[in-house]
Amino acid sequence: MFDDIIVGAGLTGCVLAERIAAQGRKVLIIEKKQHIGGTCYDCYDSHGILVHKYGPHIFNTDNKEVWDYVNRFTDFLIYHHRVLGVVEGKKVPIPFNLESLYKVFPKTYAEVLERKLLDKYEINTKVPIMELQNQKDSDLRYLANYIYEYVFLHYTEKQWGMTPKEVGGAAMARIPFYISRDDRYFQNSYQGIPKEGYTRMFERMLNHSNIRVLLNTDYRELIKLKDEDLRIEFMDKAFGGKLILTSPLDEAFSYRYGKLPYRSLNFVFETYDREFYQEICVVNYPNNYDFTRITEFKYMTRQKHEKTTIVKEFPCQYDYSAKLEPYYPIPKRENEELYGRYLKTARQFPNLLLAGRQADYKYYTMAETIENALRVFESNENKEI
Ligand code: UDP
Repeated sequence: MFDDIIVGAGLTGCVLAERIAAQGRKVLIIEKKQHIGGTCYDCYDSHGILVHKYGPHIFNTDNKEVWDYVNRFTDFLIYHHRVLGVVEGKKVPIPFNLESLYKVFPKTYAEVLERKLLDKYEINTKVPIMELQNQKDSDLRYLANYIYEYVFLHYTEKQWGMTPKEVGGAAMARIPFYISRDDRYFQNSYQGIPKEGYTRMFERMLNHSNIRVLLNTDYRELIKLKDEDLRIEFMDKAFGGKLILTSPLDEAFSYRYGKLPYRSLNFVFETYDREFYQEICVVNYPNNYDFTRITEFKYMTRQKHEKTTIVKEFPCQYDYSAKLEPYYPIPKRENEELYGRYLKTARQFPNLLLAGRQADYKYYTMAETIENALRVFESNENKEI
């Protein structure tokens, strides 16, 4: 009936299904949720406002191959994302840039810091805060510690339930000091939002006679991974095609080595009877409140509407029993070791492939997700199983 089966209709699953179907193979996607698109899913709320149900997704990449690929399924609204963070009651461009200095420090001190930064670094370079913290110059160290304290420490404690040091360099390195007056969140060559939304883009990707999508279905009811002889069964019969898992690996093996921890988010949507709620698409609240940021969708979708919908993000521990999503793998050595045990087990199955953020237990941006999915496809396209 089907040559291949994909578990999960998120970004990874949709890219792989599209590629496999284009090759002439028949593919089934099994999705637990009642919709496609995974956490990139967007929809109109009860007020008719287009919202990202699982938080803001802004597409950005320097990879032309990825950009050309997504442009086959949607036009893009060119949108350059900007973020303000509330620091000591003032709204300051995030990531910190030269302009941010003048928002938080007296002009004369901001000038001193700007001069020192420009003496040391080329204009338009990005300097990780950890690097600034190791400078000999006491003003640069003061600046770094200020940013650490007011932008990273409490935000990261809320987001991850750990300090930035415990989380490790990677997350913090995504938000370096930008030696520039460019206040955009991303500097990538290609940035935007699908013109008719992400969901419409996914619908186009899956609109192929070789693709079937089964929603509202837990794949474990249909598929069994047989340890004894490393076989995969689909509806109680041996399945000889490829099974591509984009879902968590611990779940696939019934949590036999223990549960892989994730951070999750509770999204609280609010609609206001006015045109706009805040002055920009995203305002971060590193230091106050239990939520980390507020996103106002109309800034990125450019929808005209007399009302406006915002979303507040409340981070929390992922709980398998509650209706939460495993958004962020927690980058800790013990978790990677645990993941490694599952990976070893998964690799024994000759026709089992893994792809995407959940199956790889790794944080990927949307562009990285697509790039990885394309690589997984290419490296397996001619393999006989
Ligand atoms: N971060 C922070 N303060 C901010 C913004 C980000 O401490 O104002 C840290 C935090 O640890 C976060 C990470 O940087 O998890 C990555 O931020 P990004 O905006 O890329 O997060 P995402 O959109 O992936 O949730």
